[in-house]
Amino acid sequence: MVLSRAAARSYVAAAKAAQRRHRVDGTGKSPSPPPASQRAALYVHWPYCEKRCSYCHFNKYIPRGVEEAAMRNCLVIEAQTLLRFSGVRRVDSVFFGGGTPSLASPHTVAAVLEAVAQAAHLPADSEVTLEANPTSAPSPKLAGFGAAGVNRLSIGLQSLDDTELQLLGRTHSARDALQTLAEARRLFPGRVSVDLMLGLPAQKVGPWLGQLQELLRHCDDHLSLYQLSLERGTALFAQVQQGTLPAPDPELAAEMYQEGRAILQEAGFRQYEVSNFARNGALSTHNWTYWQCGQYLGIGPGAHGRFMPHGAEGYVREARIQTLEPDNWMKEVMLFGHGTRKRVPLSKLELLEECVALGLRTDVGITHQHWQRFEPQLTLWDVFGASREVKELLQQGLLLLDHRGLRCSWKGLAVLDSLLLTLLPLLQEAWQQRVPSPVTEG
Ligand code: SF4
Repeated sequence: MVLSRAAARSYVAAAKAAQRRHRVDGTGKSPSPPPASQRAALYVHWPYCEKRCSYCHFNKYIPRGVEEAAMRNCLVIEAQTLLRFSGVRRVDSVFFGGGTPSLASPHTVAAVLEAVAQAAHLPADSEVTLEANPTSAPSPKLAGFGAAGVNRLSIGLQSLDDTELQLLGRTHSARDALQTLAEARRLFPGRVSVDLMLGLPAQKVGPWLGQLQELLRHCDDHLSLYQLSLERGTALFAQVQQGTLPAPDPELAAEMYQEGRAILQEAGFRQYEVSNFARNGALSTHNWTYWQCGQYLGIGPGAHGRFMPHGAEGYVREARIQTLEPDNWMKEVMLFGHGTRKRVPLSKLELLEECVALGLRTDVGITHQHWQRFEPQLTLWDVFGASREVKELLQQGLLLLDHRGLRCSWKGLAVLDSLLLTLLPLLQEAWQQRVPSPVTEG
């Protein structure tokens, strides 16, 4: 495919920016790693899409035209501001999500990465992922993203059945998806992830497993399985309500999930998280930060972040949400340097609850060492060791509590939500017994 002149200019700019970034990284010896409070992952939200998918409840907009230069400028400004506010000195990973970030130009991606690398240490080998949709990611553009500094792609493939893709309102066909996947693997070998959905209306177990087998013949080393969540306000929800589509069957979805994960295990994939599978060590380090309750900054309209503002005292961490609507967000960024709409201080107990709910999503679970980083006084044994309910879960083979820490078994990972209904109240109880008054919560 021949590059347009504008696209070529954009890629050259992107490549130069990426080279500058590597020079910034490569000028001296690696600095010694800063403490956890000065490290974070960075999420960048690109809010625009070409078309609304029928199931989508994300913060996305279908614009008539995108003022990309203005958006780029605001993303750069907000990244600089939040890095300054947080005192973060090292960014371990960057994730461009959306929306459809593959609609942005590589130049925008490069500009954000360069701003990050100037404000903090962004190691040259840090994971930089971009979500790409098959239709909006023709091959020269994928190469452009690589030149801009992206080193991992996450492809929103969703299905290999054209009827299902139409039902989902996707703009691509199964053929487009496989072509994009092949091109992505050529450009980013070993660094391509694909999403596959399950539990769609009228979907049957056998044909879905056939899709998964087909995908295994084409995919790289990372795969995510997501169950469709029917959200109020979406076109799909309305169709199911009106009876024009059958409601998804949760039992069939559970069967797909169980059989799917067994097939993936057989194919050499490690299920390292409830929905995520990797082989050859291709785990997503960015998402791992979320599950390990690490700090992350979120920039862009509606992005979420969790970090400790520099110099803040009296609480442990803050949850931040940026203004949802892109035009309003841009105005705020131009006025204040950031578009933070909501800041919610998290108590120590809330942080520990997140640590349990997110940590147990992974196969490693919560190690004693990890837990101690957040709570040195009250051990996992103190919280869960004496509980009769936990003993039952251990006996049922759903949970493990041992010298390594607390984690779900293979069987338990599939029913995590029900386990949390037991575990979180136990944590709250143990915390209240330990801390008599909420005033003293750190
Ligand atoms: S491409 Fe993704 S974000 Fe955009 S409408 Fe579809 S599901 Fe939503």
